[in-house]
Amino acid sequence: MSDDKTNCPHCGQKMKQWMPPADSTWGEHPQYVCFNDECPYYIRGWEWMQTQYQQKASYRHRYDPEADESGPVPVWSVDALKDSIVEE
Ligand SMILES: [Zn+2]
Repeated sequence: MSDDKTNCPHCGQKMKQWMPPADSTWGEHPQYVCFNDECPYYIRGWEWMQTQYQQKASYRHRYDPEADESGPVPVWSVDALKDSIVEE
């Protein structure tokens, strides 16, 4: 696997640029988010949230190129956040 951080480390797919909502804590610059619905990280997230919190939610892998850090971004449905994808 390459060390390109805009590729998801969990599924290897190219991540999409995503603009966080203005009131979020992620800042007002595009982040990279893995929107692959087959991503094992995302699929595991549904089970984890159900088991731990009895919640129908998951999270996707996110990379912040400005801070050079990555972490989860919570999602509540398959289509959540997808309207904020920045098409390059
Ligand atoms: Zn992924």
